[in-house]
Amino acid sequence: MANTETQSILVVGSGMSGLTAAVEAAEAGYDVYIVEKNPYLGGRVAQLYHYFPKLCPPYCGLEINFRRIKQNPRIRVFTMAEVEGISGDEGDFDVTVKLNPRYVNAKCTCCGKCAEACTKEIDNAFNYGMDKVKAAYLPHDMAFPMRYVLDPVLIQSEEAQKVKDACPYDAIDLDMVPKTMNLKVGSVVWATGWKPYDANKLDSYGFGQYPDVITNVMMERLAAWSGPTKGKIIRPSDGKAPETVAFVQCAGSRDENHLPFCSGVCCLASMKQATYVREQYPDAKIIIFYIDIRATDRLEDFYNKVKQDENIRFFKGKVAKITQDESGGLILRVEDTTTEELKEIPADLVVLATGMQPNTSENPLPIQVPYDDYGFVASQNARPGIYAAGCTRTPTFVSEVVQDGTAAALKAIQSIVRR
Ligand SMILES: Cc1cc2nc3c(=O)[nH]c(=O)nc-3n(C[C@H](O)[C@H](O)[C@H](O)COP(=O)(O)OP(=O)(O)OC[C@H]3O[C@@H](n4cnc5c(N)ncnc54)[C@H](O)[C@@H]3O)c2cc1C
Ligand code: SF4
Ligand code: SF4
Repeated sequence: MANTETQSILVVGSGMSGLTAAVEAAEAGYDVYIVEKNPYLGGRVAQLYHYFPKLCPPYCGLEINFRRIKQNPRIRVFTMAEVEGISGDEGDFDVTVKLNPRYVNAKCTCCGKCAEACTKEIDNAFNYGMDKVKAAYLPHDMAFPMRYVLDPVLIQSEEAQKVKDACPYDAIDLDMVPKTMNLKVGSVVWATGWKPYDANKLDSYGFGQYPDVITNVMMERLAAWSGPTKGKIIRPSDGKAPETVAFVQCAGSRDENHLPFCSGVCCLASMKQATYVREQYPDAKIIIFYIDIRATDRLEDFYNKVKQDENIRFFKGKVAKITQDESGGLILRVEDTTTEELKEIPADLVVLATGMQPNTSENPLPIQVPYDDYGFVASQNARPGIYAAGCTRTPTFVSEVVQDGTAAALKAIQSIVRR
C-alpha cells in the first residue's frame, strides 16, 4: 500500500465536474487537493442565471457542494493556482503548483472598505467585461471563498498603500508574491472545462463593432440580478428595452473555420434565454435562427414547451451577415432554407449562440495525454492515474458533467487502491 501522501487525489478545475469529483472522493475517505485558477470555485455555471430545463438558479447546486467542502477536512482548496508540472506514474505523481498572490489573507471579513478607498477600476471578468469593478474587489456576490482580491494593477500603483491602510482587519498583504508548491498524489482528475468561442473571430456578425450584438454567455449575465444591469435585459447601446431579440445558432460552431463540432448545449441555452426575455417583455418578438435544433431525450419536452409560445419563432436558416441601419437597428441577412429565399430581418438585440472551446486546446496538461482533433482530452482514461472529467472531455450540460465527475472520482480512487 502506498504512503498517505500518495493516497491523495489532485483535482484540477472546480467547475461542476471538478467539484463533484472532489467531494465524492473526499466523502469516500480520500484526501483531495483542489487547484483552481480563478479566485473562486464553481466554474462557468456560477455565471449562469438559470439552468435549463427547470429554470432554477445554479447556485442551489453549487451551495450544496460548497457546504460539503466546508464540512470535510479532507479537502484542501487552492484558488488562483495552476498546475505547472506533473511527473511520475500512477500511484506516485509529483506535482508542481504555482500559487498566484491574492494580496488578501484569511482575516478578510468582506467589509468592502478597501474597495471604497480604491479609485482604480478594471474590467469585470465575471460579467464578461460588460461593466467595471474596483481593482480591490469581491469576484462576485456569492463567491466561495468569500474573500476580496487585489488586482496586480492596484499593487503596482501608488494607491496600494492607501487601500491597505483602509483595511480595519489587517487582511491586506502587499508583499505577497507568487509561490511554488510541490504535492505528491496518487492520481489526478483533470477538469479544466471550457471557454466561450471568441466571437471577435466571426467577422460577418459585427461582434465588437455593434454593441447590440452580444454572446450567449453575456446574455446570462444581463439576465442575472448580480449582472451589469441588475438583471434588466436592455440594449447595451442605449439602455432601451428590446422589442425584437434574435438568437443566431451555431455562431462559429459546426464550421471548419471555427469550431467544427456541435457543442450540444447552445440550442437549449438560447431557448432558455428566450424565456428570460419573455419573462421581462411579454410582447417582445423572439426569433431563433437555426440549422437544426439539438434537444434530445427529456430535453425535447423543454423544446416543445418553448415552441408553443407564439411570440417565439424558430426560423430555419443560417445567418450570413449582420449589419446596422442608419437608425442603429440591426439587420440579419439569412437564407430561409424552407423557401430558399434570401431575407433581411431587423432586430434590436442579437445574441450569438457561440460554442464551447475546451481549455485544453490552448492550455494542455503538463504531461503527455491524447487529445481529439478539437483539443478535448480524447478519453476519460487519459493515461494510467490521470482522468479527464466534464467539458475537458466533451462539450455537454451539467447533469452529464456531474456524472462524469463521479465516474472520474471512482477511477482516481481505483488508481490509488491498485498501487
Ligand atoms: C450559454 C451557455 C449556457 C449554458 N446553460 C446551461 C444550463 O442552463 N444547464 C446546463 O446543464 N448546462 C448549461 N451550460 C453548460 C455548462 O456551462 C457546462 O456543462 C459546465 O460549465 C461544465 O462544467 P465543467 O466543470 O466541465 O467546466 P467549467 O464550468 O468550465 O469549469 C472548469 C473550471 O476549471 C478552471 N480552470 C480552467 N483552466 C484551469 C487551469 N489551467 N488550472 C486550474 N483551473 C483551471 C476554470 O476556472 C473553471 O473553474 C451552458 C453553456 C453555455 C455555453
Ligand atoms: S481586505 Fe480588508 S478592507 Fe477589504 S474587504 Fe477584506 S477586510 Fe474589508
Ligand atoms: S447545440 Fe445547437 S447551436 Fe449549438 S452547435 Fe449544436 S446545433 Fe449549433
